[in-house]
Amino acid sequence: MFQKRNFARLSLKMILITAILGITSFVFGDILTVHFIDVGQGDSIFVQAPDGQTMLIDAGLSNGKAENYLKSLGVEIVDIIVATHLHADHVGGLPGIIENFNVGQIVTPQADSIKPTTYKRLSKSIEDHGLQETKWKAGAALDLGDVTVECLAPNSELYKNINDSSIVLKLTYGEVSFLLTGDASKDSEKEMVDIHKDSLDSNILKIGHHGSSSSSTAAFMEAVNPQIVVFLLGDNTYDHPHEEVWDRVSGLAVFRTDLQDTIIFTTDGETINSYSTSENGQYVELASYRGARRLDFVTAPPAVTQPFARNTVYMTKAAKTYHRCGCRNLNRLSILLNRIQSIGCSRVCR
Ligand SMILES: [Zn+2]
Ligand SMILES: [Zn+2]
Repeated sequence: MFQKRNFARLSLKMILITAILGITSFVFGDILTVHFIDVGQGDSIFVQAPDGQTMLIDAGLSNGKAENYLKSLGVEIVDIIVATHLHADHVGGLPGIIENFNVGQIVTPQADSIKPTTYKRLSKSIEDHGLQETKWKAGAALDLGDVTVECLAPNSELYKNINDSSIVLKLTYGEVSFLLTGDASKDSEKEMVDIHKDSLDSNILKIGHHGSSSSSTAAFMEAVNPQIVVFLLGDNTYDHPHEEVWDRVSGLAVFRTDLQDTIIFTTDGETINSYSTSENGQYVELASYRGARRLDFVTAPPAVTQPFARNTVYMTKAAKTYHRCGCRNLNRLSILLNRIQSIGCSRVCR
């Protein structure tokens, strides 16, 4: 039963959160805040633990977006940086973070790929700043106060695809858990399901590899059993998110940084509130949940649909061809002049 006392506590917290919206950082009291930063096509997740410790997981491309976002929050100290893997859309922005913030240490994966990837600017930056670098594989763990951080991947030392070397983290605070997967793909997901099946179950899942069908396999999604999923992506030429993944998250609460900007979750370990940043930099409440293990909506999440609707075809300026949702060419079109409803799909390119 939902007790009055709990309701009073929830209300007080919501008032406090509302009071600081758009004014300052979300850190206060016993609240864990997780920011899924809109860095365009790439990943960057900023964690503010209830005890004030901070962790930054990836920083997107070297476009300064993660750096500027942290500055806008008034952050000065990043206790731990986690570089999930060495692709530029994850570590490109990290040298800027190391140069502009007081960074405690950096964690990188203890795994490689058949085609090793180096990111020289990052290693130089680590060296120049005398930063302590720790290599993590599955089994590593630390506490950020009352928040536990467990590393569930990588489980091997060598992968065909560097995306599979990604550090995968599970953050747990009270009854609320986040699974943050970097670009871990099928091979790593299979290992996690085989080795850590009982640990994968999480409320909130950061969808792997920007919604590519190389991740989010059915077995993995079933083991994680999320209720809320977050896609970190921007304009891209890979057709992310792929339709197979989009279908796999149907019925879940879906959040997307390409459509909603930065997405922020705050939790006291029992309830969850979510916000996005709007165009003028203010925060907008999106949805709230209570009864964390089996979340109920207090406020329903917004319906997030793909930007292109099924059963609608889109024509280019030249109007020689038209395309429908799911067509490989659709996301690549820069100008979509006309939407023509209710045209059958028989002539649609595919
Ligand atoms: Zn990658
Ligand atoms: Zn990536």
